[in-house]
Amino acid sequence: MLIGSEGYVGALGAAETDRAIPIWFHTHPGDGAVPIPSKYDRQVDRDISDLFQLRSGSAFYATLIASPQSDGFIFTGEITPEGGQAVPIDRVWSVGERWRLLQNFTRDTTAPATIFDRNVRAFGPDIQHVLGDLRVAIVGAGGTGSAVAEQLVRLGVRHLLLVDSDILSASNVTRVFGSTPREVGQPKVDVLRAHLMRIAPDLICSTIQGMVTVQSVAQALRSSDIVFGCTDDNAGRLVLSRLATFLLTPVIDVGVLLSSDSAGVLIGIDGRVTTLTPGAACLVCRNRVDMARAAAEMRTPEERQRLADEGYAPALGQVEPAVVAFTTAVAAAAVNELLDRLIGYGPPERPNETLLRLHEREISTNSAAPRPRHYCDMAQGKWGAGDEEPFLGQLWGAE
Ligand SMILES: [Zn+2]
Ligand SMILES: [Zn+2]
Repeated sequence: MLIGSEGYVGALGAAETDRAIPIWFHTHPGDGAVPIPSKYDRQVDRDISDLFQLRSGSAFYATLIASPQSDGFIFTGEITPEGGQAVPIDRVWSVGERWRLLQNFTRDTTAPATIFDRNVRAFGPDIQHVLGDLRVAIVGAGGTGSAVAEQLVRLGVRHLLLVDSDILSASNVTRVFGSTPREVGQPKVDVLRAHLMRIAPDLICSTIQGMVTVQSVAQALRSSDIVFGCTDDNAGRLVLSRLATFLLTPVIDVGVLLSSDSAGVLIGIDGRVTTLTPGAACLVCRNRVDMARAAAEMRTPEERQRLADEGYAPALGQVEPAVVAFTTAVAAAAVNELLDRLIGYGPPERPNETLLRLHEREISTNSAAPRPRHYCDMAQGKWGAGDEEPFLGQLWGAE
């Protein structure tokens, strides 16, 4: 078979315009076909790789071979930097209604470790491999973030990035999993990491002690397949909301709100798990971000003081009530959401938000669509826009 260059030169030009890496893709169809490159495939790679890099302006040549299966496809692929060694494309991460992590056909398929026997009995060995390979970031290492991390590691997640700027305080020990009075004064991410490493010595866990509202910290989330938003920070939520859209990285955002009456008695225990995935409304469209607080959080301490002196003091810095039973329940609902999206045991029309009214013992779900012309509206073309300048199409402060 001969493939004329007119078939792909146009696509290379489009890749250059989009600053994308073109991928030379073909299938090996048929019963029992395997997506392993043939001698002829290798010859094609040698023939066209220079042209691909030249015409697309990319410093990479990439290939993907897929073999359709009854329930999806299997694949192999490689990406070769200019003048360098080919690196396998180890995964294809598909984020529709269901989230599927497809691993390279040549991957290690040894049985999952026996410690996961009970998981495998529930979900099968494939999901165990996926959990072990998934790159998960958790923004916020407090009550909900630490509870999410603990569950993920026990489930078999082995690649974690923890992001939090805070130091563990004495009043955090009542909620932060893995913390004891001895660790008070240490960065929360360090305390949590040390705890998780005791549970799973093979865990690959990196940490950033910083705020996601800082550009370099937000950019570090690019290498994650999924992000859990476990922060109280409204400005941080705005960043995560954009991240889901621009980078197609699903975000599971978690919130807990305790309300009291005038006498200070607890009257409401509300938990929220919102899933930001293509086609769903962002946190702004859902009114899940307090915009006044987000704006105040972005000000310098001096500016905040000045505003307070002028009588305009947005509700900042006040210590909110928090209780381990409630933060843990909502964290469990967030992890449940990830498992549902990976395994598909939930309702066929997946809701993108779960509300837990713990005080009333009620759970409800909903699906919200983007507001017209907001960045999360599909018609704006921002879903999967990638690494734009400025990053996430927003303004960033000083590092
Ligand atoms: Zn082939
Ligand atoms: Zn929106």
